[in-house]
Amino acid sequence: MSVPIISFPSGKPVGLSFFHNDEIKYQSAPEDLVQESLRTGEAKLSDSGALVIQTGQFTGRSPKDRFIVYDEITAKTVDWNEINQPLDPTYYFQAHKRIMEYMAQVPEIWVRDCYSCADARYRMNIRVVTEKPWASLFAHNMFLRPTEKELETFKPEWHIIVAPDLKLDAEECGIRQHNAVIVSFVQKTILIAGTGYTGEIKKSIFSVLNFLLPHEKNVLSMHCSANIGKQGDTAIFFGLSGTGKTTLSTDPERELIGDDEHGWTEDSIFNFEGGCYAKAINLSEEREPDIFHAIKGGTLVENVKFFAGTNKINFEDGSITENTRISYPLYYISNAKKTSVGGIPKNIFFLTCDAYGVLPPISRLTPTQAMYQYISGYTAKIAGTETGITDPKPTFSACFGAPFLLLHPSVYAEMLGRKMEEHGVTLWLVNTGWTGGEYGAGQRIKLSHTRAMITAALAGQLKDISMETEPVFGFSIPLCCPGVPTIILIPQKAWQNESAFDEKRRFLAQLFIKNFERYALGVSPEILDAGPKI
Ligand code: ATP
Ligand code: MN
Repeated sequence: MSVPIISFPSGKPVGLSFFHNDEIKYQSAPEDLVQESLRTGEAKLSDSGALVIQTGQFTGRSPKDRFIVYDEITAKTVDWNEINQPLDPTYYFQAHKRIMEYMAQVPEIWVRDCYSCADARYRMNIRVVTEKPWASLFAHNMFLRPTEKELETFKPEWHIIVAPDLKLDAEECGIRQHNAVIVSFVQKTILIAGTGYTGEIKKSIFSVLNFLLPHEKNVLSMHCSANIGKQGDTAIFFGLSGTGKTTLSTDPERELIGDDEHGWTEDSIFNFEGGCYAKAINLSEEREPDIFHAIKGGTLVENVKFFAGTNKINFEDGSITENTRISYPLYYISNAKKTSVGGIPKNIFFLTCDAYGVLPPISRLTPTQAMYQYISGYTAKIAGTETGITDPKPTFSACFGAPFLLLHPSVYAEMLGRKMEEHGVTLWLVNTGWTGGEYGAGQRIKLSHTRAMITAALAGQLKDISMETEPVFGFSIPLCCPGVPTIILIPQKAWQNESAFDEKRRFLAQLFIKNFERYALGVSPEILDAGPKI
């Protein structure tokens, strides 16, 4: 493929004259990126042909090092807070200059044209420029892929420059330390330096879309997965990291629309991405066959270790990080929906991993309860795998995705509320976390049970089942569910010690109430009233 004139943001192709054409790899095929990653010595092949890399110092996102340039587009629109940190344009230009100087002296760069938003009306063209072939492979896997024909007339709108090995001067660039993700809406550019964690690439574009779509296009952007049944019924699954969006949307009986980022228009749900970014820790062929079988040539696997003396991945090994990851294009899942677009959802699931073992494994919410839960965005993470540490860490993250929201949460919540009401969507809260006791005492709800509950809800099998009202949270709990032991449906019954359960429930309810205080003035009395009562 011929190399187009590589454009760079702000009109100045700084330093690019240093490059000869053969040092700029344009739109390399995944096989070539795999070979080039092996050649540079930064990757290994697994026994199933996947490319295995280490992302270095960072094995997860670094939210404290993400900056939004404070300019005429963002000044009065972005919800500035500890997540959305402003950066003066002069610092942006300084960082931009340094990154371009740096890119001019690395031996090779990889340039990839791709786009996000599967609904053609909202398509956004992206050019990813990087010093690492595996970062280009990630972009190939995770963004949407233009056809050869589309490439002939491709005009990049946004640029992402990815320089994992560049350490910026924090003082000179107005940042916290040597690494940063800097987003400029005026320049339509994202600078990523000093981190090899590929998730930064996809989540920075997600943040951009969380600004542009609701603000300019009246489209609700959502941190959720989506799939569609044989009857054409769409379901979406909201949830914070590790709650089961990717795992539960990958369902052999339903076509996968997407696993993490979607938009909701007047008449459709569409995927922003062209791939999946699944957690790999404890991955098993038996429990998650579709994801497991996606680990093959072209798939990128991050921060895993092999069994000693082999090239076989040990998915149980979390010694580099618990956040081991695999990225693969959507079509590696055999029943992915080709268009990545579906109709208005019939069911919405809020996934939460409640490590306190208090929330019911499945319950139905009223629309106001759903609004309360959406704004709260609760999950609880377990402290880690170290022995002796048993305290779960509660997290409240508005709209189940606060780190990626650029506007005030109320913007997204109001849009979702309107849409839920307009379309009469059925709402479910699914606890994919603990049952029978909190972390350390009870156990995690079996994946097979959670799948059975979701299948039953989607098939309408819970509609006519008698429900019990949860006394504190007010949710409706189905009293039986096909394929699930009845004892686990009511958390209280699953615990051996009822007074210990009551105490934990009161504790969790208090956390919700305390967290919601900051939203109390901005929501209707009905939503406020839909919270837990103690
Ligand atoms: P992220 O936003 O970081 O991509 P995610 O919501 O997509 O997170 P998953 O990748 O689906 O989260 O991770 C859920 C993890 O929890 C998987 O490793 C899965 O095997 C495990 N798990 C264990 N029990 C359950 C359960 N009952 N339901 C869902 N997931 C479970
Ligand atoms: Mn996921």
